[in-house]
Amino acid sequence: MLFDNHNRPITYLRLAVTDRCNLRCFYCMPEEGIQYVAKKNLLSYEEIERLVKAMASLGVSKVRITGGEPFVRTDLMKLLKAIINIKGIDQVHLTTNGVLTRKHIPALKAMGIASVNLSLDTLNRERFAAITRRDDFDKVWATFESLLVHDIPVKLNAVVMDGRNTTDIPAMAALTKDHPVSVRFIEEMPFNGDGSHYPRLVWNHTKILQVLKETFPNIHKKPDPAHATASHYAIPGHQGDIGIIAAYSRTFCGSCNRIRVTAQGELKTCLYDHGVMSIRDAMRAGTSDEALLDMLTHAFRHRHKDGFEAEKARGAALPIHESMSTIGG
Ligand code: SAM
Ligand code: SF4
Repeated sequence: MLFDNHNRPITYLRLAVTDRCNLRCFYCMPEEGIQYVAKKNLLSYEEIERLVKAMASLGVSKVRITGGEPFVRTDLMKLLKAIINIKGIDQVHLTTNGVLTRKHIPALKAMGIASVNLSLDTLNRERFAAITRRDDFDKVWATFESLLVHDIPVKLNAVVMDGRNTTDIPAMAALTKDHPVSVRFIEEMPFNGDGSHYPRLVWNHTKILQVLKETFPNIHKKPDPAHATASHYAIPGHQGDIGIIAAYSRTFCGSCNRIRVTAQGELKTCLYDHGVMSIRDAMRAGTSDEALLDMLTHAFRHRHKDGFEAEKARGAALPIHESMSTIGG
């Protein structure tokens, strides 16, 4: 296992397989004028497999496939199967918006997917359409129900947005009563593709917790698993649990074990950095496996201490104009 320059093990790779998406969540992508990465500039499946094998040999054992929407990329299931079979990879997880996911659920179960994170910001169909700019709530809900039926561990990810879905917090948390689901409330981050973000986040982790405490006075803190980004809570008598992810406040950097590879093959050793090397360009320049491992090791050993330091180091790349659809979340 490799440790970074802050003594944090690197064990978790989050890999965006495309920047394309069939929704237009306003906190992630602009409605129009998106410059998609040309297909030839995305990592190919062969390059992704080579990359995951290299990372596995350095101690990465957990992979999350994300995007854009992973299911808009052709033959995603083939890639998932190939990654699950890579030696050293113990867990493969998936993050999806759920629109195209349902029909693949039996096959996901059969191949041994470790869990699925389903993005759902509201339980109200109109609010869903307003947030995602598409009327696909019913498809996402059907995916949620099918994941439960197939006994695939499921987390619901809800980005909390002022004036958009804060009234949904109690009802979403209440889903944990009858379902063994983890409902996670996420602070909104600045990666919306247009370079704007509030200077101060109103709905931060403290305010989200306050609403949960007002609605469920018995809610209590649970121990957090190692390297968790979420702060976990339980409500007595509920099957599932609740997580609050301080993604903008960045309270969890001290135990961060994760690295990211964007859809175009850029390595990010912190969510807030501007990319530290192009794995795609290195591979396409004919870099040997040995040299690739050296480059990755060097990058892992030069990580920023936290997301604030990484953001500051972006310099000319501020304000952030990236979309979460290229980074993967
Ligand atoms: N399309 C898939 C989905 O929505 O689940 C996977 C990619 S999406 C970029 C991954 C996660 O990032 C989603 O849960 C989404 O809600 C979250 N996300 C996107 N933009 C965000 C932002 N500006 N702040 C916080 N979370 C964001
Ligand atoms: Fe698409 Fe996911 Fe971004 Fe929504 S959050 S626009 S579903 S990539």
